[in-house]
This record gives sequence, structure tokens and C-alpha cells, in this order.
Amino acid sequence: FATRAASTFKASDLTVEINQSPAVKPESADNLPFGAVFTDHMLEIDWTAENGWGTPEIKPFQNLSLHPAASCLHYAIELFEGMKAYKRHDGKVVMFRPDRNMARMHSSAVRSALPEFDQEEMQKCIQKLVDLERDWIPDSKVASLYIRPTMIGTEPTLGVSPPKFAKCFVILCPVGPYFATGGFNPVSLVADPSVVRAWDGGSGNFKMGANYAPTIHPHMEAMKKGHQQILWLYGDEHYITEVGTMNLLIYWTNENGEEELVTPPIEQGVILPGVTRDSLLTLAREWNEFKVTERAVTMKELVDALDQGRVKEVFGAGTACVVCPVNKVTYGDRVLEIPTMDNGAPLATRFLNTLNDIQYGNSSRDGWQVI
Ligand code: PMP
Repeated sequence: FATRAASTFKASDLTVEINQSPAVKPESADNLPFGAVFTDHMLEIDWTAENGWGTPEIKPFQNLSLHPAASCLHYAIELFEGMKAYKRHDGKVVMFRPDRNMARMHSSAVRSALPEFDQEEMQKCIQKLVDLERDWIPDSKVASLYIRPTMIGTEPTLGVSPPKFAKCFVILCPVGPYFATGGFNPVSLVADPSVVRAWDGGSGNFKMGANYAPTIHPHMEAMKKGHQQILWLYGDEHYITEVGTMNLLIYWTNENGEEELVTPPIEQGVILPGVTRDSLLTLAREWNEFKVTERAVTMKELVDALDQGRVKEVFGAGTACVVCPVNKVTYGDRVLEIPTMDNGAPLATRFLNTLNDIQYGNSSRDGWQVI
């Protein structure tokens, strides 16, 4: 696999072909459906095992042309990322911790037998694309630009093998607020141990399409029964892992009577290392007002804590929403009422406001804002 690591592309070689028929940009992002409106341009970089990375190109947004045997279509040799850029009140556009997404993308590439790349050059290419499309971000403190870097195996043969051809592309969507009403909309979950998203030694800690396709049918079934998201469990002990496509955090008084924010650890390989998760843990550790712990938590611990009135807030964390409060978990024959919103979810609200302030430039934070 040496050639997979051998070459890089350079942002300074980037070519730009301007779209001569630009689309009409949305005036407001308030009613934009997530991921359905795309900007005028995309970034594309091709790779071959023989010659390494080609020249990065920004070109008009367009369809891809793929060989029907392309390995992404058969063996799901694909990875993606999800990150955002925000428009500050002074008009400058800021990406939030893109280096973390580049690092996660690189780790997904290695695990997918896709080519490695220079993370800084990739980030610089994406910055140029975002800069070109800056006017697509509506002037609004609830709008943002969702950035979707993607890499696919384009090997045109059917053998299950490392692809000798690959394509990286990046597309952009202006998006509105996750919670259309402005305030939080808490979600109800179902925790069913018979469906499993990821497992020890599996690939759940990488962001590859192959982890997501099998979750959609169980999600449809959950929705039919009136639940909004799945609380993914793992193992005979029913370890709590993630919620939908978010990391999960619990704020409670633990068994020793200490106030604690707890979330499952990422070392196991079952949990996606979320950038939001990392940001919230970093903030909470800096505040130093309660214990912050990364450890495995079982459903039994959550049920006991709820029965004893020790749970304060349960919420998901991810790029799309920042934080998403949970108000109900159906588990076996029990419907667990989670009191997250009882006092207005003060911790989730504080996290949301703190991150929003950094993202929209009302406060500054070294290394988390890339203009
Ligand atoms: N877990 C899963 C399974 C996800 O798909 C996501 C979204 N990327 C997250 C957690 C949250 O990660 P992030 O904070 O980087 O968006």
C-alpha cells in the first residue's frame, strides 16, 4: 500500500473553472431542507495508484460519470465528512475546527483502503472552494454552509481489492437552523438491543457510507412506531453508544453523589469521534464545575439513575444541531421519561450558546476558527 501514501496534491496548483450559469442563491436559509440545495461549484481531485494524486480542480457543480463496476458502487469503498462554515456579522466566513475533520477523513481513508492525502493541502483546497461560494451563505445568524468532503473508489473491476483509482470531491449546501422553531425540539428515542450500529473491532469509529446504509431500515421501523431516533446499544450489557447520527452525553448526579457529564469512550472503535463531542468535553473540562468522564455506561445505569431522580439532561451532539435534547427513551416495555427539558436544559443551552458564539464569531477561540 506504499503508493497510497506516496503523493500529495497542492492547493497552489488548484485550477478554477467558473460556472457560467450560476443558480439563484437562497435569500434566507430558514426553510432550506438539509442537503438538498447545492452551490455552483465543486472540488474534484482524482487519484491513481500509478501516478498518485492529480491536479485539484474547482469546476461547475455537475454529475459524475462512473464505470458501472466502480468499486464504490459494489463494495461501498467510500468515505465522507460533514463540517460547517459560518458567516460572521462582519461578513467574514469561518470554518469550525476543520483540522479535526481532515484528521478523521484521513483515518477513514486508511481504513477504507482509499489513498492518503496531505491534510493541510486538503483543507486549503476546501477553503478556496468555500471562499468562492461565500455568497451562498445567507446573512443570518442561524444559517451556515454544510461542507461534504467525499472520497470514492472508482476501480473499474469487480475484484474485492484495494482500488487503483479513486476520486475525492467536495460539495457544499447552504443550510438553515436544525430546530426550525428557534428553541430546542427534544427527541424521543427507542433503545432496541436487537439492532446494532457498530461493534468492537468494527468500523463504527470511521465515517464511511458502509456504516450508515444499514441503519436506515431500523430507523424507518422506529419512525413507524412513533420514535424519532434510535439509541444505539451494544453488547449483552446494553452499553449506550450513540443516538441517531450523534454522540450521546448524559449529565447526572452519579452513584457517588458527584455531578458528572459522562459519554462513552471512543477508544473501543464503536463510537464516531465527533468534533462536537470533543468540543463539548474540552469546554466542560475548562469550566471545571463538574466531573467530566469518558467511560462505558449501560442502560441499567441510566434506568437506575432515572428511577432515583439523578438524571439532569441527556442530549445528542453533532455538527448539524450542536446539541439535541432527549426527552424519552423506549426500552423494552418501559417508556423512560428523561427530564432534560424540565428546567430548560441549562447545560445543553450553555453548550449551544458557547459554541454558537465561537462559530458565528461573537467570541474568539484559538485554533477553532479558520477564516
Ligand atoms: N456519530 C455519528 C454516527 C455521526 O454520523 C456523527 C456526525 N458526523 C456524529 C456522531 C457527530 O460528529 P460531529 O460532531 O463531528 O458532527
